[in-house]
Amino acid sequence: MTDDHPPAPDRRSGAGAPAPGALSGPDIEAEWSRAVKILDGATEICLACHVRPDADAVGSMLAVAHALRGRGAKIVASFGDRPFEIPRILRFLPGTTLLSPPDQVPARPAVMVTFDAASPDRLGLLEPNAAQADELIVLDHHASNTRFGTVNLVDPAAAATAVLACDLIDRIGAELSRDVALGLYAGLVTDTGSFKYASTSPGVHLMAARLLQTGIEPGVVAHELWDRSPFAFLGLLSAALGRARLEAGAAAGHGLVWTTVTRADRAPARLPFEVAESVIDVVRRTDEADVAAVLKEDDDGRWQVSVRSKGTADVGRVCVALGGGGHALAAGFTGSGTADEAIEALRNQLAAAPGGP
Ligand code: AMP
Ligand code: MN
Ligand code: MN
Repeated sequence: MTDDHPPAPDRRSGAGAPAPGALSGPDIEAEWSRAVKILDGATEICLACHVRPDADAVGSMLAVAHALRGRGAKIVASFGDRPFEIPRILRFLPGTTLLSPPDQVPARPAVMVTFDAASPDRLGLLEPNAAQADELIVLDHHASNTRFGTVNLVDPAAAATAVLACDLIDRIGAELSRDVALGLYAGLVTDTGSFKYASTSPGVHLMAARLLQTGIEPGVVAHELWDRSPFAFLGLLSAALGRARLEAGAAAGHGLVWTTVTRADRAPARLPFEVAESVIDVVRRTDEADVAAVLKEDDDGRWQVSVRSKGTADVGRVCVALGGGGHALAAGFTGSGTADEAIEALRNQLAAAPGGP
């Protein structure tokens, strides 16, 4: 968890701790140039995205993997989960065969690029490899990013890491092929909530237009990402929604709605953890609550908590205080005790937190 970590090491680029809001103007241009130079000179490049990866993490990483292929360097792409399982809903992405389990990543990579990870602990088993990498290029859009790379391409204003990955692909002069575009589009459409969230700028639509021009089909992507669940998911959703709680007085009177998805909910049909991910999208509709949370029990019995805000609470800051991370309106943390303890910690932190964005 992030609060277990020492301050980011001195090898961070730039002097001192950069303010949230990241680098701008010439600084960021210098970072981009360094990244391109490092990649141009590399003979082996390791790519890593955050654990329990989503479409932005895997999609951005695979897009860059496709773009770097054929340039001479050996590419190793992975994420630090054990067991190493690519989420089912992401298996339609081209190039999942390019992914290797984390034990195939060199202990000390010459060049490593991380995707959508705000802090080294989000790399799971690959955290030590990143710490040992000679050059570590961090590509991310979380305001809570700890700038743990030797090159930090961090832009909290970017709607998705896929936006930064697209920029990188352009800057290395790689072709925006259909395979590249599909990964980027999956990340962009996921992190903008299908172009619904406030981050959906004109630039986001311009990027989407560019990606669609390669021939990818948005309907197919949306179907793969959101319209495919086993029948047993309906029972899990029903159980989770049936025990949802509304606490109108929580979050400084702005309201908290929350529920759990337990291992027991998933056990009868052997549903994987990832099926719990979409439950938050229903729970967060609750009008009476600014904050929504879903406590998802993972296979190790820990609570992976998804938290969303409608705009009053800054749940990114709240989750950082709880050892997690994320954005102002979408964040998460991990609880190792009981569900009651996790929700109590969240409740207390929400009560203490100043207003959000
Ligand atoms: P999720 O609820 O899993 O969709 O995550 C929402 C946001 O919070 C994403 O930007 C995640 O990267 C971040 N996040 C979720 N869980 C954690 C965690 N345990 N630690 C740090 N960041 C997290
Ligand atoms: Mn992510
Ligand atoms: Mn993201």
